[in-house]
Amino acid sequence: MPSEFKNEPFTDFSDPKNAKAMTDALAKVSSELGKEYDLIIGGKHKKTQDRIRSINPAQPDQVVGLSGKATSEDAEEAIEVATETFKTWSRVDPRERAEYLFKAAALMRKRKHEFSAWMVYEVGKSWAEADGDTAEAIDFLEFYGREMIRYADEQPLTKIPTEKNELRYIPLGVGAVIPPWNFPVAIMVGMTSAAFVSGNTVLLKPSSDAPVVAAKFMEILEEVGLPPGVVNYVPGSGAQVGDYIVQHPQTRFIAFTGSKEVGLHINQEAARPREGQIWIKRTILEMGGKDSIIVDKDCDFDAAITGVWTSAFGFQGQKCSACSRVIIHNDIYDKFVKRLVDETARIAQGATHTAPDVYMGAVINESACEKILDYIETGKTEGELVHGGMRAAGDGYFIQPTIFTEVQPDAKISLEEIFGPVLACIRAKDIDDAFRIANNTEYGLTGSIYSTNRDNLERAGKEFHVGNLYYNRKCTGALVGVHPFGGFNMSGTDSKAGGRDYLFLFTQPKSISEQI
Ligand code: NAD
Repeated sequence: MPSEFKNEPFTDFSDPKNAKAMTDALAKVSSELGKEYDLIIGGKHKKTQDRIRSINPAQPDQVVGLSGKATSEDAEEAIEVATETFKTWSRVDPRERAEYLFKAAALMRKRKHEFSAWMVYEVGKSWAEADGDTAEAIDFLEFYGREMIRYADEQPLTKIPTEKNELRYIPLGVGAVIPPWNFPVAIMVGMTSAAFVSGNTVLLKPSSDAPVVAAKFMEILEEVGLPPGVVNYVPGSGAQVGDYIVQHPQTRFIAFTGSKEVGLHINQEAARPREGQIWIKRTILEMGGKDSIIVDKDCDFDAAITGVWTSAFGFQGQKCSACSRVIIHNDIYDKFVKRLVDETARIAQGATHTAPDVYMGAVINESACEKILDYIETGKTEGELVHGGMRAAGDGYFIQPTIFTEVQPDAKISLEEIFGPVLACIRAKDIDDAFRIANNTEYGLTGSIYSTNRDNLERAGKEFHVGNLYYNRKCTGALVGVHPFGGFNMSGTDSKAGGRDYLFLFTQPKSISEQI
């Protein structure tokens, strides 16, 4: 039996030994930039005519790697291979399947800083953010491995004298795993490993903004000896290869994390049965957020300030859990906003691959940059710009941390997901008003409340409708096993990654009875 699950510790980069290890990893990765990564179908590497060019958002002329770009023919081949492989993989003992995850976790732990360094280059994470992402991926492998063993155990059933009864969680079939670029290791590894440890076979279609780190994970799966065809690596355009695999009659389920728009599109496509399809496809959809922090008049003021700016501007606000609206009690609104602006002005920003101490890097790509700047223009008509509001210095896609005050609860920048470093400060008349505002979006992912009033915390527990609610701490940074993660309403299908219900979503329970 494996030991009890424990979260992977984060790295303290203020320790010179750790800082040196990360600098070395960045140097190693830098010497490997620009390489090519093939598709992997049935264990065979396959070159493609077109390639996806993955670039460093802090220095867009720097190519991180060139991945293969699958066509629908490649996707078809991968589905056939995955369908064939399912016949054998689904029969492998669940404990044996779990072993692959434990081995992968051990290898990833050895290459921890290297994985983080790839993310620094490929998606512009700061060192600490990248380290958290890698640690979370290791956690998912360790957690879901243990979970598979638990699901494979005898399940509690009501006993009757005339029968011997048993309930088994069996796999579903071929799954499409479609992760986003913003947690390109953690979410990609989490969804993929949950799918295959449950006995399914997988087509992994990473984001076109982060195909290289996914190829690095494939190296790990090859090294641990995962049988060919269990996980097939098919990067490609969402609209082409994504749609193809979602619509395919042999696809049994889709595990997706990304935007509301794409999630709803997948849901619709998956709902329509295609010729030859003999099941209802299951969709596990984790989508966007518009997350609020409520700051009550009685609270630990300093803690609330830190909680808000770290939640709003960590990884440039590009987390589904990022605080993009802070709802402040009228009595402390002016004082809070002033201090928030002062603290935000101290945030260091720059290219995270060359400057270790910067808190904020670049946003993911040019179109994200333009979209965020458009929202900032809208914000100027909806509130008062009190900080930032422009591109920041540098060749890459840098946007200043931006704060708007006096934003109305129903303003566009208060309701729509911006997915960048833009924070709306909203004035609440009182705590009733604060709860009303907090629930006025179509999303329901994360939220926090800073208050020293116990009654108001208890009320939040009942009234603040989000999947992950925090009292007196930031609204980002969920830990596997500790804070099972996932949202309500348009934030997804109410699933909880890193929780005990998660593997259930990748299985179907079969009841077997024998007359005795
Ligand atoms: P996105 O929706 O643009 O893309 C996500 C994935 O879907 C990518 O791999 C993309 O290639 C693929 N895709 C695009 N069109 C497709 C199609 N027609 N068919 C199949 N696949 C298709 O999202 P993104 O920009 O990569 O990620 C950011 C979004 O993800 C934000 O909205 C964020 O809130 C959300 N997110 C949610 C969670 C969560 O747990 N709820 C976690 C992280 C990110």
